[in-house]
Amino acid sequence: MIDRLLAKVFGTQHERDIKKLLPRVERINALEASTKALSDDALRAKTEEFRARIAKALDGVHDEDLKAARQAILDEILEEAFAVVREASVRTLGMRPFDVQLIGGMVLHSGKISEMKTGEGKTLVATMPVYLNALTGRGVHVVTVNDYLARRDADWMGKIYRFLGLTVGCIQNNLLDDERQKAYAADVTYGTNNEFGFDYLRDNMKFELESMVQRGHVYAIVDEVDSILIDEARTPLIISGPSEENTEIYYRCNRVIPHLVKGTEEKDKYGNKVTTGDYLVDEKSRTAVLTEEGVAKAEKFLGIGNMYDLKNIDLLHGVEQALRAHALYRKDVDYMIKDGQVLIVDEFTGRVLPGRRWSDGLHQAVEAKENVKIERENQTLATITLQNYFRLYEKLAGMTGTADTEAAEFHQIYKLDVVVVPTNMPMIRDDHQDVVYASEREKYDAVADEIAQLREKGQPVLVGTVSIEKSERLSDLLKKRKVPHVVLNAKFHEKEAEIVAQAGRSSAVTIATNMAGRGTDIVLGGNAEALAVHELRDAKDSAEYDSRLSELREVCLQDRQRVLSAGGLHIIGTERHESRRVDNQLRGRSGRQGDPGSSRFYLSLEDDLMRIFGSDRLQNIMRRLGMEEGVPIEHGMVTRSIERAQKQVEARNFETRKHLLEYDDVMNRQREEIYGMRREILRGEQARDHVLMLTETILDYILGRHVNDEKAADEWDLAACDLDLQEYFGLRPGSLDHTGKTRDEIREQIWKVLLEIYDRKEGLLGAEMMRTHEKFVMLQVVDQQWKDHLLAIDHLKEGIGLRGYGQRDPLIEYKKESFELFTLMKERIEDQIVQYLFKLQPVAREEAEAAEARERRAPVAMPSRRSAANVNYSYGAAASGGQDAKVETIQRHAPKVGRNDPCPCGSGKKYKKCHGAAAAGA
Ligand code: ADP
Ligand code: MG
Repeated sequence: MIDRLLAKVFGTQHERDIKKLLPRVERINALEASTKALSDDALRAKTEEFRARIAKALDGVHDEDLKAARQAILDEILEEAFAVVREASVRTLGMRPFDVQLIGGMVLHSGKISEMKTGEGKTLVATMPVYLNALTGRGVHVVTVNDYLARRDADWMGKIYRFLGLTVGCIQNNLLDDERQKAYAADVTYGTNNEFGFDYLRDNMKFELESMVQRGHVYAIVDEVDSILIDEARTPLIISGPSEENTEIYYRCNRVIPHLVKGTEEKDKYGNKVTTGDYLVDEKSRTAVLTEEGVAKAEKFLGIGNMYDLKNIDLLHGVEQALRAHALYRKDVDYMIKDGQVLIVDEFTGRVLPGRRWSDGLHQAVEAKENVKIERENQTLATITLQNYFRLYEKLAGMTGTADTEAAEFHQIYKLDVVVVPTNMPMIRDDHQDVVYASEREKYDAVADEIAQLREKGQPVLVGTVSIEKSERLSDLLKKRKVPHVVLNAKFHEKEAEIVAQAGRSSAVTIATNMAGRGTDIVLGGNAEALAVHELRDAKDSAEYDSRLSELREVCLQDRQRVLSAGGLHIIGTERHESRRVDNQLRGRSGRQGDPGSSRFYLSLEDDLMRIFGSDRLQNIMRRLGMEEGVPIEHGMVTRSIERAQKQVEARNFETRKHLLEYDDVMNRQREEIYGMRREILRGEQARDHVLMLTETILDYILGRHVNDEKAADEWDLAACDLDLQEYFGLRPGSLDHTGKTRDEIREQIWKVLLEIYDRKEGLLGAEMMRTHEKFVMLQVVDQQWKDHLLAIDHLKEGIGLRGYGQRDPLIEYKKESFELFTLMKERIEDQIVQYLFKLQPVAREEAEAAEARERRAPVAMPSRRSAANVNYSYGAAASGGQDAKVETIQRHAPKVGRNDPCPCGSGKKYKKCHGAAAAGA
């Protein structure tokens, strides 16, 4: 039998979606009796039985068919599994999932968004698809909006999972890596979007595969999916740190160069090549390298032993770049100094390229040479948008009370379809028309009066505001009227949840910003369990607790009658939000599970939304209708106008997010490539082969430049060739005699020597240490270059607008240039890997220390969220602000953007001309 409400069939798409699922609901219901008959042990044994069936179905399936096969076998098991979870829920939590909840669960399993109103029990809904999908043993993630909810839901629903033999983990902000690893290893993992995202980024900064905490992205269910994938999606996740570069090193290395003498390559009287001086320069190929004497001098001036020790890698690099800065880069030709900044001059056009920097420490070296301040910034170490993080999952699903208005965006960006699941009980909340006042003052006075009145008659009131400041304002007015009330501002999730849980008691007045207390159920008459826990927190399992709980249950039940006769929970909105969805969330706090309730929004012509987006037409209507002091206007036309304004803002915000995503997509491919490269290095397979392959490539490149087969032998530039060989492999110029040899003979001779050098190193270290050495060097290079690239990309984004592209599309320019930068970076990675492996002298112990030091430095990284939008309403940021004040690594801030600053969306336009135009007013 299906619940009565569900059996009615309508004609919309959503209803057709639902109708298709009804036969499955029937079948799950049909399994109820037999499932009930099972003992606890027999019920639990179902888990093993399902696992065995899955294993059997997947046995021998080819990798490429695995995904489909998995989905097929899970679909086959679905009905039985849901019946099992339903029964486990009855036995552990005393709740029997309603038919609509089964439907919601099936929607989630199919990788869609289940829109279910507040209070419909979405927390419980998730357990069914979570259980089913966790049976494959690959880890299911449940994403919540804050740490408190992650903890609450993992504890609460954990009873069901554990009863059925699954393990549950919960990620919290203050967890250490090994605790995280354990939580991710569980069958089910609860946590916030930030934690999941940052763990992904941090994992890709690790130095050992074993220290990574996540084990893949298989299936995620995102609770309050609109908050996370839409509201929060305007700010990317960023791990940043002070550019760890010790700028002092550049000045220090810079001081060495003036002591060095430029030399030449000459032949001595026996015809052998010798070098004079401390360094050699080849203008044509723009190389500059130290001679042996130069190295010795540099070591002396720096006061270090061997410059080619691994521990001196930064100094070596610094000296090399300082040398280039002095020997190859000329002021007013290659660069200019303006306002204490080094500006690059485009070698082809002669124009200055503002905002651009040379990479790999060269810019800093030139800054040191010119004795200007070395730009040291908080640099991005890793970044990803939430959009791209959640796209990593093989299957994604979401649930919320308000998704339908954003269905198009969910579909376009995440390929998530929205299915609207009917409520368990008919909704009888009474949503009144908006009332509009001429001024904010009149509006707030009216709101305060209304609250005082409703309180008199015992009705609970929940007031939503758009900011903490406005909450305070209203609070002051209520204090004057001596109306007791509480104010929540989404800072202390746990405490606020406790308060919101009692917002349904008679005469309760609760003022809250949008996100405050989200996820907490408001029961009319109050929540007896929460009250009992509050009173007797430390004696939860005592008899005292039980008797107090039943007393409180009685109290709440009586109070419920009072509230019901007063009309249920009344919602007051004090301003329309930028999106209709957020207004609907507020309204949705009332009228749960068939409760009575009502809602009304109070607006004024001075509200931001009305001022900025309300059309002149609206103002005219208002004037025509006449506005008297203190008398509001209530008119359908006004409400419609406001909705139009909201739709406009929604569309604009969607554009911002799309824009952010378009830019991040470029970065995303690069990130995936680099992260893939890192993982390969960490796996450590065929490192030697890889290095030798790179060595050959570079050797052929050098020969191609100087010892070109197409030229006659006497046109070969053997001196330049020697210089390159020194630069890349540390071969002493003149140490090989190329005279009279063909190109192939020359190549063979060099290759043999290179192999000898490499083998000698390996012989000295032993194969195992050599592999470790290779791994460290490669990681060091990749990380350094990637960081450098991220910095370059930041500058590119800033600079691309400053350069003024005329009619050209900045996104296309950005794509082109970032691709070029990336290609160059990859070349540098290859070059440096080879150079360092040939030139550096590995010392086992120091290496271990260096690695350790880096690990220690890593936590300095500051995960944060950078604002990428103009939006000035901040509940998103306020909502997830560090709940635990001790832990300061996670920092999300939305810095205010100046009107003349470049727009953070990356368009390159000034903010006021781009996304700031909205704020500037119509
Ligand atoms: P939502 O997230 O959809 O707003 P919650 O998951 O917070 O709703 O649940 C709201 C309340 O409904 C909770 O107090 C929960 O105990 C209760 N609830 C959920 N499902 C059931 C059920 N099948 N039977 C009884 N109570 C339920
Ligand atoms: Mg919820």
